[in-house]
Amino acid sequence: MPRRLIVLCLAMLWPIAHSEPQGDLPSASGTVAFVRVNVVPMDRERILGNTTVLVRNGRIEAIGRSVSVPTGARIIDGLGKAYLSPGLTDLHVHSDTRGDLTNYLANGVTRIVNMGDARPGFVARVRPRANRGEIPGPQVDAAFIVDGSPRYAHLFVETPEQARAAVGIAKTNGYRFIKVYNDLSAEAFAALVREARGQGLPVVGHGVTSVGLERQIEAGQSLIAHAEEFLYTVFDETGPDALPSDAKIKRTAAWLRQQGTYVTADLSTYATIAAQWGRPDVLASYLDAPEAHMLTPEQRVAWENSGYAKRTGPGIEDNRRFLADFIKTLNDSGVPLVMGTDAPSIPGLVPGFAVHDNLRALHDAGLTRYQSLSTATTQPGAFFRQHVPDIEPFGTVEVGSRADLVLSAGNPLEDLSRLREPQGVMVSGRWYPAEELRAMSRALMDEYAGSVPR
Ligand SMILES: [Zn+2]
Repeated sequence: MPRRLIVLCLAMLWPIAHSEPQGDLPSASGTVAFVRVNVVPMDRERILGNTTVLVRNGRIEAIGRSVSVPTGARIIDGLGKAYLSPGLTDLHVHSDTRGDLTNYLANGVTRIVNMGDARPGFVARVRPRANRGEIPGPQVDAAFIVDGSPRYAHLFVETPEQARAAVGIAKTNGYRFIKVYNDLSAEAFAALVREARGQGLPVVGHGVTSVGLERQIEAGQSLIAHAEEFLYTVFDETGPDALPSDAKIKRTAAWLRQQGTYVTADLSTYATIAAQWGRPDVLASYLDAPEAHMLTPEQRVAWENSGYAKRTGPGIEDNRRFLADFIKTLNDSGVPLVMGTDAPSIPGLVPGFAVHDNLRALHDAGLTRYQSLSTATTQPGAFFRQHVPDIEPFGTVEVGSRADLVLSAGNPLEDLSRLREPQGVMVSGRWYPAEELRAMSRALMDEYAGSVPR
């Protein structure tokens, strides 16, 4: 068997064969009190200095300076210096391994949405165990991709009847979203949206060529999976190389705001593609980066074989610059923006680490730090509350919210990179201190190093 196939076969066993963590998981049932912390609630731009946050049964029960800490509660003391902010969400990933869940956790990411093509074993087995807290990791949801042709190698449907059946299959198998893809027919798209609404599965995804983003949004699509979808649909009438006028951009932004459509602000995704376009040396540097050793062996092979570094052609840098301006315009127009990275599908984007890269890219594009951080906290929380039935509130540090939290050494609203190395992360009330996160990451790296054929 060729080496690559062996690696692929090993990786397919990964969700099952991956070893259990050593020892017991941190308890979720106990009461935890963060004392002398500076809270970054993310409901608006403010800090609550020197505060106590009491967590019980996975929820935030009290916040304040005079909250009394019950006897027996585990105390995490911020000494007046540490900052407690909401855990981060990445609403567009393609991770489907146990190892990636470790990477998210270590980076303070407490919720992910797999935006399609996850292995069934991950959705059926790993996802519910992570969501119950039986394995360390973020909360996990998955979107079920439905396309209209085999062109992109996704599951596809040809008739409205098949589209309805696809929604039923997704629902039965625990998927939370329907992701529409480029080649759906208008009839199948309409049937898909109607059925998904009936089944309580929000419709998210790409621009569908036969329908067009405007009509997709009017029909009820709640989230656009990439900002660049607009380049391929709404803004493409002037030709592939021409960029839209300022007036058209502003009109589009105002309309999106009025529709309440969420847009994935995936700036670093496109920027990372642009950086390696025709540049095998850049791809090599991505593979050499320390965090790239946190990738599964299968994913490293996929990066090595990725086509971006071999491609050439003009326009990509113009598009990148355009997208940065477009996202700033959407932000200034009040369109809700959410974090999405596409990790690890694009070489250079390592699960978890990529969220911090995108936060920086958003800030570089002109969003304030608070606005940038909102895309990974407040806005995903609002999106779920609005579109996903029976969701526990998350994305802010508020009484009643899920205890999904990041403790950092400095104020993220002054320096977003302070979130890169958390002092600890809490998911559903389970506390993972930095040393435990580091040990988990080291174990993962050793495991991968041992399984890569040299
Ligand atoms: Zn994607």
